[in-house]
Amino acid sequence: MALTGMAIYKNLPKTNCKECGFPTCMAFAMQVASKQKALTDCPHLSDNAKTELSDASAPPMKLVSIGPAGNSEVKIGQETVMFRHEEKFHYPPALAVKIPSSMSDNDAIARIEQINKAKFTRAGQDMGVRLAAVEVDGPVDKAVTRVKTILEKSTVPLIIISNNAEVMSSAVKAIADKKPLIYKADETNAEQFIKIAAETKCPLAISADTTEKLADIANSAREKGVTDMVFSFDGKKTAHTIRNITTIRRAALKKNFRTMGFPVMVDISMDNAMKETALAATFSAKYAGIIIINGVDGSELLPILTTIQNIYTDPQVPNTVEAKLYEIGHVSQDSPVLFTTNFSLTYFCVEGEVERSKVPCYICVVDTEGLGVLNAYAGDKLSPEKVIKTLASQNVSEKVKHRKLIIPGLLPSFRAELEDTSEWKEVMIGPENASGIPVFLTQNWKK
Ligand code: SF4
Repeated sequence: MALTGMAIYKNLPKTNCKECGFPTCMAFAMQVASKQKALTDCPHLSDNAKTELSDASAPPMKLVSIGPAGNSEVKIGQETVMFRHEEKFHYPPALAVKIPSSMSDNDAIARIEQINKAKFTRAGQDMGVRLAAVEVDGPVDKAVTRVKTILEKSTVPLIIISNNAEVMSSAVKAIADKKPLIYKADETNAEQFIKIAAETKCPLAISADTTEKLADIANSAREKGVTDMVFSFDGKKTAHTIRNITTIRRAALKKNFRTMGFPVMVDISMDNAMKETALAATFSAKYAGIIIINGVDGSELLPILTTIQNIYTDPQVPNTVEAKLYEIGHVSQDSPVLFTTNFSLTYFCVEGEVERSKVPCYICVVDTEGLGVLNAYAGDKLSPEKVIKTLASQNVSEKVKHRKLIIPGLLPSFRAELEDTSEWKEVMIGPENASGIPVFLTQNWKK
């Protein structure tokens, strides 16, 4: 039976330390009671309290880990809401790139090296391919060698794909300490695959034609001691799959139906990069924890990863960077000074273009409560007076010997007031878009 907020509160430390993100233990208890937060978000819970509360307050969707504990470990699940605006989505889907069994050993190694290198930084966050989906078939020795060779070269955890129980058993047991995902148990092989998962303690993917059959296999697996499962769907049957995974999520979150309380994954691997990209973006929004694709080219990965990044930001918290003076490159007393706002996307666009220009610069970031340039201006969060105060508080005039200031091209009206009321006597109107910064600096910056 679900616990009340008061029952949960009685077992909390009652120190109101705020480390869970809430102002009081009572506020946190109410969130746990309504399944909006997991009990594990309180780092000070005693072992007794954990035991007492764990069953009743367990999150409605299990957190499933793939790979050994550490930086590359993939965690999916433990979502608490149907819609992002209700709170936020917690664990971004992991992209998995397939390495087909038909590939030669050399090509398979080349593919895992591409996967390792598929890393990008956007808006200050690192992102990339997080899993390699290694398909193996017989004979057993060949499959084990393939899996071991790829694991040795890989910086990401593995999904092992096979329909053959004997091959799967040997391949998984060969690398069980690296906790690969077993892909996948279905009606034809459920008994054998459940046994492999139970023996190795590795997570198990399950698939079936209907959600009822899926629930049956999941219940059998639970009875045999398998605790970590992922429900798998053919993402190419898009409408059917979205309907099923939405049903599963609703059953887990709204009805607290434990059998359905596991994350889902989709396989959308195909030879059409455009379609794969569109489907990956679709399933990022609803509600995949893992997306298996074929493509490893940046032109496909970046749009997908950007979509995931945007969906998994917290809609209730402005995306900000610290309002301070940033030094880009080897700055000197002659370096240009620009200012911008603390909306992270704005800042990182400006920072990226300054880096691209190869002109070392100071960027003075003004606290606009996470708003971009025009919104901040319209909302009265950005004014010439505030810019002057920020420049003074960051001691910018002590860093450079000139008094030239480059302002965003969207705010030309700031120039007169800045020149009239501050020590920054030469205000230069920069480009309207960050992409114009390299040309602007090259053409206009003279020490
Ligand atoms: Fe209370 Fe734990 Fe939250 Fe601290 S982290 S306020 S002890 S619930």
